[in-house]
Amino acid sequence: MAATALTPDVLAKYEPVIGLEVHVQLLTASKIFCGCSNRFGSEPNTNICPVCLGLPGSLPVLNAKAVEFAVLASLALNCEVRERSIFARKNYFYPDLPKGYQISQYDKPLAEHGWIEVPTADGGTKTGAPSDRSSSLGWKKIGITRVHMEEDAGKSLHDGLPDSATRTYLDLNRCGTPLIEIVSEPDIRTPDEAFEYLTRLKEILLYTAVSDCNMEEGSLRCDANVSVRLKGAERFGTKAEVKNVNSFRFIRAALEYEIKRQIEVIEEGGRVVQETRLWNANEGRTYPMRSKEQAHDYRYFPEPDLPPLIVTPEFLEAARARLPELPEARRKRMIAEYELNPKDAHTLTASREFADRFEAAAKTAKNPRRVANILLSELGGRLHALGLELDQSPVSMAGVVMAADLLDDNKISSKQLKGLFDICFERGEDFPAVYEREKPQQITDSSAIEAMIDEVIAANPKQVEQYRAGKKTVAGFFVGQVMKASKGQANPALLNQLVTKKLDG
Ligand code: ADP
Ligand code: ZN
Ligand code: MG
Repeated sequence: MAATALTPDVLAKYEPVIGLEVHVQLLTASKIFCGCSNRFGSEPNTNICPVCLGLPGSLPVLNAKAVEFAVLASLALNCEVRERSIFARKNYFYPDLPKGYQISQYDKPLAEHGWIEVPTADGGTKTGAPSDRSSSLGWKKIGITRVHMEEDAGKSLHDGLPDSATRTYLDLNRCGTPLIEIVSEPDIRTPDEAFEYLTRLKEILLYTAVSDCNMEEGSLRCDANVSVRLKGAERFGTKAEVKNVNSFRFIRAALEYEIKRQIEVIEEGGRVVQETRLWNANEGRTYPMRSKEQAHDYRYFPEPDLPPLIVTPEFLEAARARLPELPEARRKRMIAEYELNPKDAHTLTASREFADRFEAAAKTAKNPRRVANILLSELGGRLHALGLELDQSPVSMAGVVMAADLLDDNKISSKQLKGLFDICFERGEDFPAVYEREKPQQITDSSAIEAMIDEVIAANPKQVEQYRAGKKTVAGFFVGQVMKASKGQANPALLNQLVTKKLDG
């Protein structure tokens, strides 16, 4: 890329069109058509059998758990699940595909017509706006064309093995790992929207617990299709498909690169060719891999060794009943229930496991909202400073609940709580142990507190005047001053009560 200057004016003439194809490995114990272990990381070529190797005479048997997971994911993605779907053979040769074909689904996939809602900077359609992080964002539905089931292929290994310059090694353990492929409509318009779509898709799948979505291990893989067209044009431009991208940030970068590359081709009077390209993360650019002329003709036909897959209404309803509360709905509820802002709701719901632990603990506290507050303000700040995650905190959830209840009962002041938390973090100790040892002093002697109030009142005649003139909120100033003077030890309830009494008196 060099010749044409892609000024903002030039870029603004075009509109990108993006559609994503995401492969997700399902967390079943065994493979999709045989009893072999589906565990990642076993010794190469140990989890294999005649079925997943496609040896003559072997027959596939569909794993019911894989169907259950695929149906759960489809429902979580708002899809309609087809009662009768058909497995099909997708024929191609590759060394890591010993059968010579992959069992997939083609014209009758498991599920269709779903959607994911994502926040968008371009105004969007302003639908629902569930728990948007900033009110300036609109919301937009990205359509999901289909969710279908298929088997994974094996893996070719080229690097870090003896003679790997001249040899390719094969590990067939992955043959027959259950996959779902989730294909989006070409509804995505910016690399940021693609990033949001993937983030939310992954979050939904993790909440649904059908996959660990571990990109490093290849449990979630994404191919990005992208084209550009002049704004206002009706027809889509010719797309390129970018493969081999192993993080959401790289997908965004690859799309940004690819959009500019295509605009440049067109601006120079050329034509974008339909092709598959590879992303090179080191160089931050894409390279052509194969063109449409070299594209596969897979000669799909219905898999003769498997009957149609029937998802009965009963099976479907059982799956629906098992669906957990999904991330966006949960955030919306928690914002109301704990009086959170959207950003804090995102923090507390980052994983379903953490949100579950938080809510279970909050329920046992006198004031659940205070548990959220302490987690976010006291723990959040300290953990952030140390670069730790919420679940790496020395203070346990039970410790936070104890602290919240002590605050609620006025047994400690918020200043004392801060001090105790400081000790927890310095020593890596949980809150109950630190509290029992330190048992911070509280001044509950009214006359001692009154004496301090008198001093503060005497020192601040202007504020007294304001209070007496009707500005009742100034009472908070006096409470703060006395609390400071008492080194945080004044009993907060008593202090509040006495300040009002003195000022009114
Ligand atoms: P193919 O037949 O090449 O696999 P599909 O129609 O199955 O193409 O679409 C594959 C993916 O590419 C889908 O996610 C779809 O939304 C997206 N897509 C289709 N056409 C375009 C286009 N012109 N520009 C960008 N993305 C597209
Ligand atoms: Zn097997
Ligand atoms: Mg396709």
